[in-house]
Amino acid sequence: MPNPGPHSPAASGTRAVHGVNSVELAAQVQYAKGVGPKRAALLAKLGIVTVRDALYYFPFRYEDRGNFRKVAHLTYGQYETVMGEVMDARVVTTARRRMKIFELAVRDDTGVVTGVWFNQPFMQRAFSVGQKVVLSGIPKPDSYHGFRAVMESPEYEVIEDDEERTIHTGRIVPIYRTTAGISVRAIRSVMKGLVDGHAGALSEFLPEGFHERFRIPALPDAVREVHFPETEKDVAVLNARASRAHKRLIFDEFFLLQLGLALLKRGRVVESDGISMKGDGSLTGRLVKGLPFRLTAAQARVMAEVASDMARPKPMSRLLQGDVGCGKTVVAVAAILQAAESGYQSALMAPTEILAEQHYLGLRRYFEPLGLTVALLTSSQKKKEKDAALKEIAEGRATLAVGTHALIQGGVAFGRLGLVVVDEQHRFGVAQRAVLKGKGANPDVLVMTATPIPRTLALTVYGDLDVSVIDEMPAGRSPVMTRLFDESARAEAYRLIKKEVEKGRQAYVVFPLVEESEKSDLKAATEGAERLGRDVFPGISVGLIHGKMKPADKDLVMTGFRAGDIKVLVATTVVEVGVDVPNATVMLIEHAERFGLAQLHQLRGRVGRSSHQSSCVLIASSQNTASGERLMAMLRSRSGFDIAEEDLRLRGPGEFFGTRQSGLPDLVLGNILRDTKILEAARKEAFGIIEKDPTFSSPGAARLRAAMMDKWGDRLGMATVG
Ligand code: ADP
Ligand code: MG
Repeated sequence: MPNPGPHSPAASGTRAVHGVNSVELAAQVQYAKGVGPKRAALLAKLGIVTVRDALYYFPFRYEDRGNFRKVAHLTYGQYETVMGEVMDARVVTTARRRMKIFELAVRDDTGVVTGVWFNQPFMQRAFSVGQKVVLSGIPKPDSYHGFRAVMESPEYEVIEDDEERTIHTGRIVPIYRTTAGISVRAIRSVMKGLVDGHAGALSEFLPEGFHERFRIPALPDAVREVHFPETEKDVAVLNARASRAHKRLIFDEFFLLQLGLALLKRGRVVESDGISMKGDGSLTGRLVKGLPFRLTAAQARVMAEVASDMARPKPMSRLLQGDVGCGKTVVAVAAILQAAESGYQSALMAPTEILAEQHYLGLRRYFEPLGLTVALLTSSQKKKEKDAALKEIAEGRATLAVGTHALIQGGVAFGRLGLVVVDEQHRFGVAQRAVLKGKGANPDVLVMTATPIPRTLALTVYGDLDVSVIDEMPAGRSPVMTRLFDESARAEAYRLIKKEVEKGRQAYVVFPLVEESEKSDLKAATEGAERLGRDVFPGISVGLIHGKMKPADKDLVMTGFRAGDIKVLVATTVVEVGVDVPNATVMLIEHAERFGLAQLHQLRGRVGRSSHQSSCVLIASSQNTASGERLMAMLRSRSGFDIAEEDLRLRGPGEFFGTRQSGLPDLVLGNILRDTKILEAARKEAFGIIEKDPTFSSPGAARLRAAMMDKWGDRLGMATVG
């Protein structure tokens, strides 16, 4: 980072001894000046209950109100802020559509600008002639107003007395996110009081020397500055969260998160007892000999990494990353066999029933010749089947239990569970892994994902895991040719399918299904299958599979497709993950514009699984900029890693994994794309601290631990780490 800031960490950083001021910070904002019960209830909606919450409720942007634009100098089409006096506030009704428009005319010493709001006549009451107001918005010339500047629905603030004025104008002001019933201005006033009164109570927790080394201000100074900037004069720097104060707080976020991850990892390595499953090679040896192919170097390397983890008497937590089709399954099989050699059972969890069923069928082919039993558990099984499976699992007769998430939840008891493999589950976050660990057995865990996780994200979501990467495809695969068609080229896409089927190959036709419940989407797939079978591919067997079908019917269709009896499989996105039919060479995706990038890449990965040339045809009827960019990325990149980086860039980190259950921690200020450097520095420091002090008992550790638990304890499921 550049020049040292003017802050001296000694000024306030050493002021507070940890704990002394925590009462002050834990106080309810309700009792602070200008708040009261009504406002407190509204603030609570924003997550602000205590003084501490408020100090950590940061502005999402800033406005330079030291430099208002004069009305005469407004640039049309550009975001501008002006201050002036209310000249007129009236509601007019349009002649044609009888719409009520509230118009607020504001004058400074150079001219008049009018704010207009549609259908909000009640706004009139908030204004009176002569008031000082600030308007922010995009001015446009308006013929109706004599070509004077008009802003549609601008943001506004009424400036009241002089004391207030120094908070709300004449400086760079913070803009906070707000909720109905409380204005930005009101929040800003409350914040000013709280920050002035209590920021000093925040106790420094960063180890000595950090401030100098990273040139960052002490915590109280950073918090003051982020709310009411004094030092940073450039509003653009503040809006980019690149001020020194921002960097300090971003560093904190990453540093405490990484510290938590380092502790989780250390907890596994140093403290908890796991199972040592050395194996004797009797089963794994037979597996490798019996394979119809040679392992790639990457597979062999990763197998060795997993094997040595399992042999150690500490629980394994390993992430196996590898692009679709690289051959992760066989790595899992080897691990399961090693557990079996040591007398332990394994569980394999898959995200969908189709995938669980497919694994069940596929894996039996590996295990049965070795005399080992595989049990299947799904929620839609008949009771009799389920009971039988549960019994086999409980009595330890099943070497492997395959199923969905339900597998590791209540009711399922294993005789001797040693290994859990989680397949294709990129949404399996830190907290869920903690739940699993809490089941008491401390089994080894292997998480496999084909959604390649960009490196920066891997550092945050899977920061406590050891990572193995398969970065090589089996020999003899030819890359999938990807083409983008519009409606008019549909016939050509069908011709391609026909040609492939004549050659003995098979094809998928996938329709989007956003929600399992969306009837219209289901109808599109069902009708699509009918039409294809009847009109387009007469004489070719066309099958249909979707999530609403009965499991037995799904099974029948998948078995038919796998056996090659069904040539063209029409499907909703249920085939997205994991389905493995190497003879399929065409993947046609309808309404490709409606799919996300990761999904498209997963779908494309269903083909190109043999030496036959495969194609992926994207049919897109309409595109906007966003979907256009996704489709272009599909044409450009073949590697899942490039796709994932692109996806992360297009969607941003919050959306990348979907918001719920993502396992992605909620960063308040930090952004893993923008702040990679800070993330890496913070990670290095955090892991360094735990490495030097594995018992985490050096002076300062207590403060650090408290800060970490405060911020991330819940999200990391760390109630017991200590
Ligand atoms: P994924 O990593 O996507 O789960 P799979 O494990 O399903 O991939 O493997 C994809 C296909 O490649 C399977 O048909 C599998 O049998 C085959 N395969 C795996 N490893 C090799 C290899 N080393 N050489 C040739 N084919 C392989
Ligand atoms: Mg797989």
